[in-house]
Amino acid sequence: MRKKIRFGVFIVLLAAAIAVCRKAGDGLVEWIDSDRAVSAAVQRNENLVVVDPGHGGPDPGKVGVNGAEEKDINLKIALNIKSYLEKENIEVFMTRTSDERLSDTQVGDLKERVRLMNEKNPVLAVSIHQNSYQDESVRGAQVFYYTDSRDGEEAAGYIQKALSALDPESAKERKANNTYYLLKKTEVPVVIAECGFLSNYEEAEKLSEEAYQEEVAAAVSDGILEYIDSVVKDK
Ligand SMILES: [Zn+2]
Repeated sequence: MRKKIRFGVFIVLLAAAIAVCRKAGDGLVEWIDSDRAVSAAVQRNENLVVVDPGHGGPDPGKVGVNGAEEKDINLKIALNIKSYLEKENIEVFMTRTSDERLSDTQVGDLKERVRLMNEKNPVLAVSIHQNSYQDESVRGAQVFYYTDSRDGEEAAGYIQKALSALDPESAKERKANNTYYLLKKTEVPVVIAECGFLSNYEEAEKLSEEAYQEEVAAAVSDGILEYIDSVVKDK
């Protein structure tokens, strides 16, 4: 009699274990399917990249220890990225091509950038910025992506790797963020490339030089192209 009860308990436990495993399995299949459905439903323009030079007009962004204004460096690097990518037959949409702000207010400006990125529906949007910090010794490029975006994380990885190669000693790692307005509100894969620190004299000087702006732009472009290759291959 005791044996029978034990056997009964065993059967009940086994049935429960099978039920749990099946539920988990269904969940996994559903999760994989929904992920596929999302990427299949969103047809991004695979040959288009949005390049977004941060700030402009009355908003200089960070001001360097050498007096350089972030908005100007951003625009120069972004225009170089545009020509590198166009040489590779990638179409580029620039959120600005001159020293202007896209709205009367800072918030309006950011909203307009997000709107343009969503409307253009590119394979990737890249926002170009320069960093600043109270500790003047801090330097090096860093690429940010939205915490929940696997595409953003992948793109940030390629761009970070290429930028870090320019200055291996101060190399940083790509970083997740879920508070930046641009990252939060943009529905297409987006990264923010902070190309260097204007609070570091040496880096501010380098970032103000045309030759280095071209090098930075080439690195960002290489990262973008690697990302596009991987998106196309995944199909
Ligand atoms: Zn900025």
